[in-house]
Amino acid sequence: METKILQANLLELIRRTSAELPGDVKQAIAKGLRKEKKDSSGQYALQVISDNIGMAKVNSLPICQDTGTIICYAELPSWCDEKTFRKTYERAVVKATKVGYLRQNSVDSITGVNSGNNLGPGNPAYHFHPAKGKSLTVKMMLKGGGSENMSAQYSLPDNRIGAGRDLEGVRRCLLDAVVNAQGKGCGPGILGVCVGGDRGSGYVAAKETLFRLLDDKNDDKRLAKLERQIMKEANSLGIGPMGFGGETTLLGVKITHRNRVPASFFVSVAYMCWAFRRNGFQMGEGGKISRWLYES
Ligand code: SF4
Repeated sequence: METKILQANLLELIRRTSAELPGDVKQAIAKGLRKEKKDSSGQYALQVISDNIGMAKVNSLPICQDTGTIICYAELPSWCDEKTFRKTYERAVVKATKVGYLRQNSVDSITGVNSGNNLGPGNPAYHFHPAKGKSLTVKMMLKGGGSENMSAQYSLPDNRIGAGRDLEGVRRCLLDAVVNAQGKGCGPGILGVCVGGDRGSGYVAAKETLFRLLDDKNDDKRLAKLERQIMKEANSLGIGPMGFGGETTLLGVKITHRNRVPASFFVSVAYMCWAFRRNGFQMGEGGKISRWLYES
């Protein structure tokens, strides 16, 4: 494999992810804009967001100044080993930081010193899997700090919100998370949710489920029903875009589940802001990208 081509493809992936929102997110924002009352604060907020999305794409500039945590998933075929991939991805990240696709966003948690190039322990955050076929599949997400601060994990039962160990309890957790994010998480938001797992695996799965398309349908009928219900209920709370009031509080809810031990019942909520930056590609050994995973 020619690593120079891979590096160029990864740099383009980072540029697209930072500057261009995926089509499903743009459609959901446009739908919200149509729903908001004329001349309302909610309509104004969504219009500003929408204009910002358009300008970022035209100028290849970050959609938001906080380019977030870099999360990378890669399915590696036999011709691309993990060490080579990491090295190449990191070169692309350094270049992307230099040219301004990414903000200098990686801080040593002990000294407070910014590494200046987005590299450091845990940055980027990698998840590797073996590929099923011969293509390399790379997906990435840029998750803003403001939205990450509004992510939450519940341990059920939770008497504060009257949540027991069942889907009604999960519903209560999700509505509580939406209310808590009000005016803070740069809504309209998207919830990635995992029911069960342990504290670590629950959050990982909650974030992973955000790679689903906003307009897809959950294979699990019970969870599909809960997703629809949360969308409906959250969007009738009146919180609206940026917490200014209005109809569009959530753009999507994606729920998955993991088995748990009898003693624990966690509900992990990965809260994502409107700057829902995710993209990916599939690439063959020769370096040709066969498919972008999210149309912009
Ligand atoms: S929460 Fe999202 S939109 Fe708000 S500042 Fe962070 S990245 Fe930007």
